[in-house]
Amino acid sequence: PTTGPRVLYWFRTDLRVHDSPALTHALSLAPSALIPLWTWDPHYVYRQRGATNRWAFLTECMRDLSQRLTALNARQKLFVVRAAPRKVMRHLFERWGIDVLVFEQDTDPYAVIRDEEVTKVAERCGVRVVSVPGRTLFASREVVRMNAGRPTMSMAQLLKAVEKINGGVPARPLDAPTLLPDPLDGQAMDLTALEAELDVLTRKDHKAQDHSRAAESWPRAEGLDDYNAVQRTFREQETQYSCGLMGPGRDFGVPTLQEMGFDPASVTTPHRGGETAALEALAQHVANEEYIATFEKPATAPTAFDPPATTVLSPHMHFGSLSCRKFWWDVQAVIERRRKEHKPVSHQPVNIPGQLLFRDMYFAAHCQVGVAFGQQIGNPVARFIPWHLQSRYRRAGTDPHAKLVTDGTYIVDDAKAEEYFQRWKHGCTGFPWIDALMRQLKQEGWIHHLGRHAVACFLTRGGCYVSWERGAEVFEEWLVDHEVACNAGNWMWLSCTAFFSQFYRCYSPVAFPKKWDPEGKFVRKYVPELQRFDKKYIYEPHKTPIADQKAWGCVVKGNGGSGGVDDVEERGYAVYPKPMFDFTERKQFCIDQMKKAYAVGLYGDDERVVSGEWKKL
Ligand code: FAD
Repeated sequence: PTTGPRVLYWFRTDLRVHDSPALTHALSLAPSALIPLWTWDPHYVYRQRGATNRWAFLTECMRDLSQRLTALNARQKLFVVRAAPRKVMRHLFERWGIDVLVFEQDTDPYAVIRDEEVTKVAERCGVRVVSVPGRTLFASREVVRMNAGRPTMSMAQLLKAVEKINGGVPARPLDAPTLLPDPLDGQAMDLTALEAELDVLTRKDHKAQDHSRAAESWPRAEGLDDYNAVQRTFREQETQYSCGLMGPGRDFGVPTLQEMGFDPASVTTPHRGGETAALEALAQHVANEEYIATFEKPATAPTAFDPPATTVLSPHMHFGSLSCRKFWWDVQAVIERRRKEHKPVSHQPVNIPGQLLFRDMYFAAHCQVGVAFGQQIGNPVARFIPWHLQSRYRRAGTDPHAKLVTDGTYIVDDAKAEEYFQRWKHGCTGFPWIDALMRQLKQEGWIHHLGRHAVACFLTRGGCYVSWERGAEVFEEWLVDHEVACNAGNWMWLSCTAFFSQFYRCYSPVAFPKKWDPEGKFVRKYVPELQRFDKKYIYEPHKTPIADQKAWGCVVKGNGGSGGVDDVEERGYAVYPKPMFDFTERKQFCIDQMKKAYAVGLYGDDERVVSGEWKKL
């Protein structure tokens, strides 16, 4: 049609064509032209932590999406514009003569601010904006409304709220489109003239203003070494972004990792991105009827790695390369079929639909609490616990209603705590189970849910007594599936800050993994220096007689061993560290501290927390 509106479709959280309510809406407008767009958002590029593994997964998703769009119309693709949305949108509206902007609704607090700004700009340009929910089973704002405007802090609250939305049944997935309208013709799409005009904008403004503006309105912690290295890489190649809105091929192409300043050899995750890979993986799982229908999360082994015991679809959920409703309904169909056949099925919340509901619970809670959800200070749902390495804080901007936010630094109140934190992060605590998990996380960007439980409990209330925010930052950096709502929410759960309060129940770094993996196969894979150790000692190698240590090629000594490193005095042997503390003693210390904090009973938004008065309580 030549009469319909020109539609700009902005991809962000939904890198797919199947079951996309927003894309379906865009197509229902019968556009005369449709431009599928991706722009680089400085918040995610500069402010959020992210290792190469996640960037690799993202660009795989983008490339696959682009190919799928081309398959629907040979003239179509994902048009990647290398500039910040807040800067470039107005120009794109004008150049391309856009009538309607459509995108999937994003309720993350940063995205809300960004989208409000873009919407204002659009309205000034006479562009209509349509934001369509689709990221979760139930629209998060609707869930909050049905929960009397409050954050959903338990599964019971979530279930009650969604019951009022379509009886608790998620919408059926929508079919992928079978064809797409054309974009504009090549000449009309071309941004060369804009590049010249925007040169100042992208080079100076994007760098000086957008970056610092993002920094100003969004003060988040910096200060982790690896993270800063990633930031530096991006800054170095910022010039590259700004030298061409359409990329070096002048074809709006998806950048390669090299173009982004990353060494492709630093991609160590085995998990592959893209809608095609996601749908294949889902189909494979669903074909395994017994597995899908009887899945019970607490019964899945955190030590399984070949293959893992859960679906590993979380990175696809994060980037939207798989729709959560498609996931839900494909699984539900198997469960219903089995039920009719009177075969055993598992139930919520431990089954797969239950897992997806947990995701909805965290999204809705995050949506209501806003930016404070990711931190202790100013967070109305977080119990205040005087952790070591707590964030410092300040009020956000000049808005009197603004919440307190962290200023990016933290209080080093105990030198030991900093050491515990670093050794936890880099997998050299001397507890092989913890170290194996942290090394798997760094290498592969994914660990099993109960593995996340184990390391999160260990860092916070079950060992180190270090603030959950520090741990959440490491997860933010290394997880391929990192999702603010799920990460912060689960860290609060595990640290007994919110959602869960049984702080006397701790995970033992020895007894717990032994139950799942008495042979220690998982530890042998990720802590290879212990490969030859007898299973009797695999979780407590420091108890191994020294002659055996030598016979098995690894000496357990000192504090600093970082895995597989030859020691000067012990040439020929790998070195693995002794436990960095007595676990039983530390556990008791943590429980005592938690008891005290619970007795005082403060929450993150309490004035006494904000004023520092808690120290006297
Ligand atoms: P499956 O068991 O196959 O579950 C299917 C889907 O349900 C997952 O893909 C995921 O989308 C969702 N899901 C499952 N469990 C949870 C849960 N507890 N909370 C929210 N959604 C869930 N998940 C993230 O997606 N991003 C994060 O940043 C994240 N950080 C976490 C931090 C900690 C400390 C903990 C304990 C958990 C965290 N989780 C996070 C939740 C959970 O561990 C992962 O979603 C899950 O392990 C992903 O593996 P899977 O896809 O095989 O899950």
